[in-house]
Amino acid sequence: MSKKQENMLETIRQQAIMTAPYTGRAVFDKRVMQAMQAVDREMFVSERDKDLAFEDHPLPIGYGQTISQPYMVALMTDLVDVTTEDVVLEIGTGSGYQAAVLSHLVRQVLTIEKIPELAESAKQRLKTLGYENIEVRNGSGYHGWKEKAPFDAIIVTAAATHIPPSLVDQLKPGARMVIPVGLPYMYQELMLVTKGKGGATHTDSVLGVSFVPLVMADDEDPVNPCNSANSG
Ligand code: SAH
Repeated sequence: MSKKQENMLETIRQQAIMTAPYTGRAVFDKRVMQAMQAVDREMFVSERDKDLAFEDHPLPIGYGQTISQPYMVALMTDLVDVTTEDVVLEIGTGSGYQAAVLSHLVRQVLTIEKIPELAESAKQRLKTLGYENIEVRNGSGYHGWKEKAPFDAIIVTAAATHIPPSLVDQLKPGARMVIPVGLPYMYQELMLVTKGKGGATHTDSVLGVSFVPLVMADDEDPVNPCNSANSG
């Protein structure tokens, strides 16, 4: 592991401690940190940004979108408490980085990306890197992925104005979803939705965050990234 990547992991550990009053998790699961170590973020950023690949910030990936901040990827991955048997849905493939991290921890990752060019480049990148348990689909993830549902966990990596009901429907009993909810261009709250064994859901606010917008059901206006602390 490079010195830069070692520093990235150390920053994630420190951020986890600092945000523990909000997240309730001062230490992320060992497996999550191992997955963060296993994935080379350099392979997911543009040539121009290689030097910055292990900084704890989002970076542009084209089309007004960003690869999420490493700490945020680790936090979201940690919050969904996945196991090696799980099938996980991600909405917002972007560069494919979050999907790659998840793929080290679960049986299968299904990921949906709205922008065709990003979906295609993520698909190619993940194939080149040898990931075989990730399926990338181009389309809107607002309604989830019905044919493959239900899921053990769902990670939404773009900011929604509300929690899409179809995504809640597609959670298995006992499953979890993390999703930034709030106004576009502003800070949002990272929400953790837990579906109980009986099917009732419980929603907790975890932390203030800033993500690029999720294109909602009838909204065709993807917009600009925000680069700031706790950003996706
Ligand atoms: N997880 C990504 C970061 C993605 S940024 C990574 O690790 O690199 C958010 C992504 O969500 C953008 O690529 C954006 O195009 C996508 N997106 C926005 N609205 C969407 C929608 N309704 N369905 C699927 N993808 C969407």
